[in-house]
Amino acid sequence: MSSPLTAEAAHAGVHCLPVPTPFLVGRVNCYLIEDDPLTLVDCGPNSGKALDELERALAAHGRTVEELELIVVTHQHIDHIGLVEVLQRRSGAEVAALDRLSGYLGDYRRATELDDEFAVALMLRHGIPEEIVQALRSVTSAFRGWGSGTTVTRPLADGSQLALRDRTLDVLHRPGHSPLDTIFWDAERELLLGGDHLIKHISSNPLVARPLDGDGDAAARPQALRSYIASLTATRELPARIVLSGHGEPVTDHRTLIDERFALTERRAAKILKLLGEEPATAHELAQRMWGNVAVTQAFLTLSEVLGHLDLLCVEGAVRERDDAGVVRFEAVLQTAAS
Ligand SMILES: [Zn+2]
Repeated sequence: MSSPLTAEAAHAGVHCLPVPTPFLVGRVNCYLIEDDPLTLVDCGPNSGKALDELERALAAHGRTVEELELIVVTHQHIDHIGLVEVLQRRSGAEVAALDRLSGYLGDYRRATELDDEFAVALMLRHGIPEEIVQALRSVTSAFRGWGSGTTVTRPLADGSQLALRDRTLDVLHRPGHSPLDTIFWDAERELLLGGDHLIKHISSNPLVARPLDGDGDAAARPQALRSYIASLTATRELPARIVLSGHGEPVTDHRTLIDERFALTERRAAKILKLLGEEPATAHELAQRMWGNVAVTQAFLTLSEVLGHLDLLCVEGAVRERDDAGVVRFEAVLQTAAS
């Protein structure tokens, strides 16, 4: 990547180090910040290949893993945290993350088991057949090895500041894509380290995730798309010139991109309302009408998408949710004919 934008970020001492992942999303962007402490934002998945490439990328900037002094984590997805334990152990770096992420990373195995249990309950509750749920669960457990936990030595409060020698980063909690998405705002340079909150070439999926404060009851699922919209609305206000994302190229005109995301959400909600028709349907049935077989192979992802839009339609009063003996069905609220 050698766009003028990356050159400008590099001039500010921020270098993009794209690291391979085994996932559909492709490479994940880690960022090296040449400052005191020497800082790495996000880590790549826990694999030898990712570590090799990360070391090569650091070497291209004359750095080694051992020299890292601070590792900053934007959220708990495995392509961003996988190498955190290895890097922390080898470098002795401090690990900074949103305070509410400390418990999650500190007891990673238990936290991900609870995530899996929540996802299973949610999928069954929304009409995904048992055999698909079980198949997905084994895929998810196989993926767990790409992640890792660690001790967060510097928990960050939402709204606090992370001060390095040459820059100060505002810590802003922006739930949506994940419940703990955190962005880091350099107000002086008008530069935003955005993680997966905003990605240029793909709309970030607002995945339904276990609420970390509650008891993980699938009936009390968080409304991920609604919180994502609130988060994007807040980010839209930042006078950002450059957003450095967790995947893909930097974003310049973030307001236009956010407006495109909002327009897509409206179109999708209208389409789902149309697909719902007059018969009540489960969110999984709607996902199949929308995406066909993809709703089976990517059942959790498409379920999250549909639920997010149904939440919006429920708030508008166009749809209501009802519980049929433990399975949730949605129905269109018929507008009474004008008399
Ligand atoms: Zn992510």
